[in-house]
Order: sequence, then C-alpha cells, then structure tokens
Amino acid sequence: MQFDSEYDGIILGSGHNGLVLQAYLCRAGLKVLCLERNDTAGGGLRTEQLPGGSGFHHNTHSFYHRALTRMPWYRQLELEQHGARYIEPELNVCLLPADGGALEWWTDFDRTVESFARFSRRDADALKRWREEFVPIVENILLPEAQSEPQPPEERAAALQRSPEGRRLLEVSQLSPREFAAREFEHPVVQAGLLFFNGLREVDLRASGFGHHIPALLASPGKAQMCVGGSAQLARALVSVIEKAGGEVRTGVTPERMVVEADGSSGPGRVTGVQTTAGESIRARQFVASSLNPQQTFLELIGGDKIDPHLKERAENFKYSPVTPVYTIHLALDEQHLWAAAEWEPQAKDAWLIIMGVESTEDVKVLEADCRAGRFPSRLQLFGGVPTVFDPWQAPKGKHAAWFWQVAPYNLKDGGPDRWDDIIDEVTEKETELITEFAPNINKDTIVHSFGLSPVDIERHFPNMREGDWMCGELNPDQFLYNRPFPECSQYRTPIEGLYIAGSCCHPGGNITGAPGYNAAKIIVEDLGLERWWTPPDLEKIWGGLE
Ligand SMILES: Cc1cc2nc3c(=O)[nH]c(=O)nc-3n(C[C@H](O)[C@H](O)[C@H](O)COP(=O)(O)OP(=O)(O)OC[C@H]3O[C@@H](n4cnc5c(N)ncnc54)[C@H](O)[C@@H]3O)c2cc1C
Repeated sequence: MQFDSEYDGIILGSGHNGLVLQAYLCRAGLKVLCLERNDTAGGGLRTEQLPGGSGFHHNTHSFYHRALTRMPWYRQLELEQHGARYIEPELNVCLLPADGGALEWWTDFDRTVESFARFSRRDADALKRWREEFVPIVENILLPEAQSEPQPPEERAAALQRSPEGRRLLEVSQLSPREFAAREFEHPVVQAGLLFFNGLREVDLRASGFGHHIPALLASPGKAQMCVGGSAQLARALVSVIEKAGGEVRTGVTPERMVVEADGSSGPGRVTGVQTTAGESIRARQFVASSLNPQQTFLELIGGDKIDPHLKERAENFKYSPVTPVYTIHLALDEQHLWAAAEWEPQAKDAWLIIMGVESTEDVKVLEADCRAGRFPSRLQLFGGVPTVFDPWQAPKGKHAAWFWQVAPYNLKDGGPDRWDDIIDEVTEKETELITEFAPNINKDTIVHSFGLSPVDIERHFPNMREGDWMCGELNPDQFLYNRPFPECSQYRTPIEGLYIAGSCCHPGGNITGAPGYNAAKIIVEDLGLERWWTPPDLEKIWGGLE
C-alpha cells in the first residue's frame, strides 16, 4: 500500500485524552500525528466566543475540572509553563433549597462541616467521620488505581482484602450510592445534594458496587477548579507541549478507515495506517491509538466484517448512559447576577457552582426515572455557574457569561432524539424562569443573548459522546474497572496488533481527568520498548505497603 506520509504513530481524536497521550509519547521521542475531525483541538476542552465578536466566551463542553492541578500529567507536562492556570473558588458548590438555607461545599473542610451542621448535626458528624476514614482510601487506593491500568477482578479483590483500607473499600462499595446516602445521612437536602452532585451523571445510583463513590468524593483532596481563560486554554497548553516535542495536531481531518494488513498469522492482522475522507493515506510505523468510542473504532473505522465476531459483539453492545446527557443553557448577561439566597446567606453571592431545584432524594429519583423512561424531566433541577465572577476575561468588562444545565434524556419518548430541535426554545424559556426565581435580576432585561445545546447537539458535535453521553459510555458494573470498555481491551491494547484505545470509554471513564490517555501512554511506551521518562504509580508497591 502506498502512503502519502508517515509517522511513528497516529492518534484519532484530539480530546484531552488524545492530547495527553500524544504529549507523553512525543516526549518519549516518537513522531506522532493527531487527527481531529472538528475545526479546533481539545474535544470537551472547548471555549467559544458566541455570538462571534461579542466578547462573551462560553465553555460549551466542560465547565469545571475536578482537582485538575493534582493530576500527575498536569505537573509532569509542565502545563503552567505552556499557559495553563487554574483557580479553585472557595465556596466551591452551593445547593439552594427554595425555602431558605444553603448547603455548601467549601475548599475549607471545616466550613463545609458548619454548613452541613446547619441542616443536621448528625450529618455533619457523618461527613467528618467518612472523610477521615476515606482520605487514606482515596490517597492510597482509588487515586493510584485511576492512574494505572485496571487489575483483573480476582487479583484486585485479593490485593484489597490484604489491608484494612482495602477491606473497608470493598465493604462500602457493596452498597449502591442511594443506599449509602440513606443509611449514613438523615436530612433530605443533604441526602439529595450528595446524590445529585456526587453521583448522578457519573455512576448508576441504583447499582451496588458504587457505594464508595460518595465518601470518596467527600474525601477527595481537590475540588472543582476552572481554567483561567476558559477550558480551551488547557487544550492550547497541551498542544503547545506537543508541538514543542515535535508532534503535530491536524484539525478538520476526518479518518475514513484504518488500514489493517495481514501479518502472516491467522490473527486479525496489524494496523498500519489511516486513510482520511479526503483520500490521504498516512502510515503509522508503530501504532494507531483511538480516543474514540468502541463502535467508531472497531465497527466504523475497521469494519465489523473484518474483526473477530466476539470483538464485534463486544463493540456493538457497549452501552451509553441515559442519565448523563444534559440540556445546557448559556446566557450572556448585562450585569452580575444576585442570588436571592444572599439575603439570608451573604456568602452565597461568591458561590462558584450552584444547584437549584434539588430538595430531596425523591427529586433525584424522579429525575433519574424520567430520563430512563425518555420523559422530559418533570421537575427541573439545574446545575451551573457564572465563571466570569472569577475570570472576568471571559466576558466584556462589567458583563457576565453563565451556564446552567439540566440532566435530560437523549431519546425522548414522544418524538425521539429529533424532537429536541423542536422544543429547544420552550426548554430554554422554562429553565430561564427557574433561574430567575433564584436570581431575580437574571431576566429578559439583563439577558443580552442566550442559546441552548441539547443532548443531540452533544452527539452532533462529538460523535464519540454517543447518545449525548458525555462519559462516552455508561459507568455500570459491566463497564467499570477491568470491564471497561470490555475485558479484551481493558489494558488499552486491542486484539488488533498495533491498535490501542485511549479515550473515556477506557478505565477510569469520562470527565476531564486525562487518566485514560495517561494510562495508555505507559502501556504503549512499554510495548514499544522505549524508556519511560516519567514515573507512574506502582500499584503493587502502594497497595502492598498498606498490609
Ligand atoms: C455539555 C457538557 C458539559 C460537560 N461538563 C463537564 C465538566 O464541567 N467537567 C468535566 O470534567 N467534564 C465535563 N463534560 C464531560 C467531558 O467533556 C468529557 O467527558 C471529556 O471531554 C471526554 O474526553 P475525551 O478526551 O475522552 O474525549 P473528547 O473530549 O470527547 O474528545 C474526543 C475528540 O475526538 C473527536 N472525534 C470524534 N469522532 C471523531 C472521528 N470519527 N474522527 C476524528 N476525530 C473524532 C471529537 O471531535 C473530539 O475532539 C461535559 C460534557 C458535555 C457534553
């Protein structure tokens, strides 16, 4: 086969996972090309000036990045030297019940405890107890595990059984998040806040195996952070690292198929390059790594008829979550909003992330049930913030850009996904009404401009987020840890020689964590026999040290 150009490796998709992977491999001395179908690199790290020339910048596909500056790649890639800078607002998250009070998560843990105590003394004590117990579990088990290739289930269980922390983790994870919240906390607002903010849209709240999710987040050392200059600034920093190390990111290029050549064995062959829709053939001397979803990688870009039927079935059956899609409303505001809650809770005016309409576990349950049944949510529950309070650059002087999203199903029972285009104005209006209830000066007079993005728009923009699932694959017990995306590909390798996967369909999943890309880099460097220039966590040693 004749190729037009050649590289050591090709990465498909320039989301942050693809870029993190590329940066590590370029720094390991490889010549790597990344191909991106959209006009800008960064995937979910997207900041758009809308309308063009207005000076209002909107982060359309990721608004806050949890504990980002604590990620090993942020430090190892020296991203601050390439223009990244993060802030972590002190009043990190604030849930506003309609009839008063405010449930607050502060960067200062003692202030969070005080806030919980205003709802229930018992819940404040439970918060303290669980955090104390889970800090070592997060530090020594969960964080290093997220930054390593996942262990086979029996090996993992055996290793965890050997330490008190491991045994406790296994015990707590037997519960579902719902059971955990109901058993350990008593106040309806506290229970609802924990489920809404620390569970819904990430894991299945009903599923056993995820009970540890809530205490793990309570004990997490890092809170929600935002990138100064918008989320896209992190993408620019990553591209700068890549270019400095000799890599290339090409946007507006769509891969049509991967070239798989017979390698003389009876196996599926070896991937040797990529052909684009523009007819260009690019050779990959050593590897191709896809940060796309399993259907795209195996069925569309290789072809279901060219792979083992078992692998084909695995890819076909990879599932997407009905509760992660969101409908997002973006607002350009003429003046700074004032939360009505600031009257009784003056610090609420400085809150970063706001939750509205969530008052009890029943609310969360109803929202989840509506989504699973394909109904537009019967009770609006908004989550959002106004980044420009903390980073004025993102709007013209004195003005503000805000976002709020509503978890909502992709496939509407009445009319299917296409119905979203018909109801977008109606939904925007409904959401705006709820926002006005909580911040009366966000209204028709102060909203200069608004637009909405539906679950269908998410998929249109990023086809890897199939069915609007921004986790790029449901996090359920069958698609978690060693089972993500499925056991045959859980180590970032695939049954096709030279082909790796590295996106959010891999362990540990979606959101801006960079972990799938970081973990895949370790595997590829090892397989190619290159010197690893960084030190990833040594899980065996860390877990062994707990015994
Ligand atoms: C509305 C919304 C809000 C969100 N808010 C947050 C948030 O606040 N915090 C957070 O942590 N996460 C958030 N997320 C989730 C987060 O954006 C994703 O989980 C994350 O971006 C996934 O990263 P990735 O690198 O795996 O893939 P992506 O970022 O999706 O990148 C994949 C890239 O591949 C490209 N691509 C797709 N198909 C092809 C193809 N065939 N060929 C070539 N390129 C292709 C895409 O254009 C994209 O650039 C949000 C998502 C959405 C949709």
